[in-house]
Amino acid sequence: MAPPHKPFVIALDGPAAAGKGTLGRRLAAHFGLAYLDTGLLYRAVGVRVLGAGEDPACKEAALRAARSLSAADLDDPRLRGDEAAAAASVVAEIPEVRQALVSFQREFAAHPPEGTKGAVLDGRDIGTVICPGADVKIFVTASPETRAKRRLKELRERGITSIHSRVLREMKERDARDSARAVAPMRAAEDATVLDTTDLDADGVFAKALEVIGPRLRAPR
Ligand code: C5P
Repeated sequence: MAPPHKPFVIALDGPAAAGKGTLGRRLAAHFGLAYLDTGLLYRAVGVRVLGAGEDPACKEAALRAARSLSAADLDDPRLRGDEAAAAASVVAEIPEVRQALVSFQREFAAHPPEGTKGAVLDGRDIGTVICPGADVKIFVTASPETRAKRRLKELRERGITSIHSRVLREMKERDARDSARAVAPMRAAEDATVLDTTDLDADGVFAKALEVIGPRLRAPR
């Protein structure tokens, strides 16, 4: 049976470790929406290419990996690591790879899993390219130093040792690649609300996002 009305879609974009994932999961639980971390798709492509002993910058290898991606690839624990993140941002520069991942993301937004009224998608180009008609667009950002600090804490909690300067450097490299690429660069959509989380904790970020979303909630039909 067709859903009674169009799914409610929230697009969250922004740089690494700005708080999109935490916010996205919380919003999804709060509003009964499905959640898709689109970065996992690019990470899975990167990890597959590395696993095959190939170069993430090689178009053919990356495209092959993107086309053969399966749901099981998204559960791979290696996707969380920094090697996966770096490989992801290299494969993400290849227009054909992005194109190969578009329909999965749009399909998720248009037909979210059973029982959900819509979807929250987090990424870099959700509000600009994947779901330009999203009901809510939030560009989540924070200072590079704050993001590196958060990332370092997350790594330590997972038992991975690193140092602030290295995390900061790698993050800046990734941000630069993501913002400078020719196709679907990371940027706030013109109609997005920018939410700077530098001085906010998770509850503060959630409260601000609710302020943005409130007026945009559609009255039930
Ligand atoms: O969000 P996450 O840090 O997991 O994303 C990993 C990389 O995947 C990003 O640095 C970016 O290069 C790429 N990405 C993208 N478009 C998206 C999501 C992620 O290019 N929608």
